[in-house]
Amino acid sequence: MRLPKFKYAEPKSIQETSSILLDHPEAKILAGGTDLLVNMKHRVETPSFLVSIKRISGLDFTEQKNGALRIGALASLKRIYGNPVIREKVPGLSLAASSVGSYHHQTMGTLGGNICQQNRCKYFNQSKWWRSSRPLCFKAGGETCYVVNKKSVCYSSYCGDVAPVLIALDARVILESKKARREISLETFFSGNGKNPLDLKTGEILTEAVIPQEALDGFSTYVKFANRNSIDFPIAGMGTWVSMKKKEVRVSFTAVDRKPVRAKRVEKFLSGKDLDEQALEEVVNIAAKEATPVKTSVYSPSYKRRMMGLLLKSALTEVAGRKRS
Ligand SMILES: Cc1cc2nc3c(=O)[nH]c(=O)nc-3n(C[C@H](O)[C@H](O)[C@H](O)COP(=O)(O)OP(=O)(O)OC[C@H]3O[C@@H](n4cnc5c(N)ncnc54)[C@H](O)[C@@H]3O)c2cc1C
Ligand code: SF4
Repeated sequence: MRLPKFKYAEPKSIQETSSILLDHPEAKILAGGTDLLVNMKHRVETPSFLVSIKRISGLDFTEQKNGALRIGALASLKRIYGNPVIREKVPGLSLAASSVGSYHHQTMGTLGGNICQQNRCKYFNQSKWWRSSRPLCFKAGGETCYVVNKKSVCYSSYCGDVAPVLIALDARVILESKKARREISLETFFSGNGKNPLDLKTGEILTEAVIPQEALDGFSTYVKFANRNSIDFPIAGMGTWVSMKKKEVRVSFTAVDRKPVRAKRVEKFLSGKDLDEQALEEVVNIAAKEATPVKTSVYSPSYKRRMMGLLLKSALTEVAGRKRS
């Protein structure tokens, strides 16, 4: 499958990148290319201009500064899960990064690209030939949705593996442009709009993720349920962070809604509780109601809901077991 024609630039600074993006609003950022280039080959995304950020120095790093753990947007997934500090202090992030696609996706794929990846849907992530049998759906530029019968809303799912753990860790992201620099919580970076899933302004680049010091004191994990053990997006995934000292739990699901979903009812229910058998039994049903999956994949919404509960139970059982051992 060939790529469509596009213009290409390799700026060396954030300022220069932002200027190009502001002058060419149709341009897209290219990092590892493992998501974007596949979509371009399928003609579901056809930007006429790609701006590679790979030559910008200072974005490929992992460091601990003033207690917080900072990871640059160009850090590869392999670099993330290979980092001993990350493995020890935030094992959930290491697990999530190492669960992405195959080894090749992990060496080429970056933190920024993983967070900013496109939403997915079985009617969208198909070749042009497959999609040519019917009119384009709303996300691909048409006027209809084949999943939910509403013209102006796309229900495609966010399926990234890394964002849910970062959200459970209460991470923030830094967004920089020629004009401004803002730091927001990763949770609010996702719009919930399947057509434009990110709160990214024209000219902005995600430059780093910051995990607060407080999150390094708890335990984090990531559980992923996928069809195969390798090269597969999650059918459902879940990042969690637990502080046994404070009896506090944070949970975020992926692949079950238009954005990574923070499980606020689960968190409230578990707050101040011991993770005993009764709590774990009860929380399964609460978890299943935290998201609104629709039929964007071959798996039914009820199946996904059931998996959400089971993933949560399995992660919390692991955490409770750690305490006992
Ligand atoms: C077969 C296959 C299996 C896959 N399996 C998984 C999986 O299991 N889990 C998973 O999470 N992903 C999976 N992916 C998707 C992809 O490989 C990963 O998400 C990867 O981490 C994307 O990173 P990248 O650097 O290659 O992103 P790119 O493809 O370069 O970019 C992805 C998107 O993010 C935007 N972007 C990139 N960097 C920035 C930035 N710094 N600021 C703002 N926007 C930016 C780009 O414009 C683009 O829209 C899979 C892909 C394939 C083809
Ligand atoms: S949810 Fe609807 S509009 Fe969105 S990608 Fe799927 S079919 Fe298209």
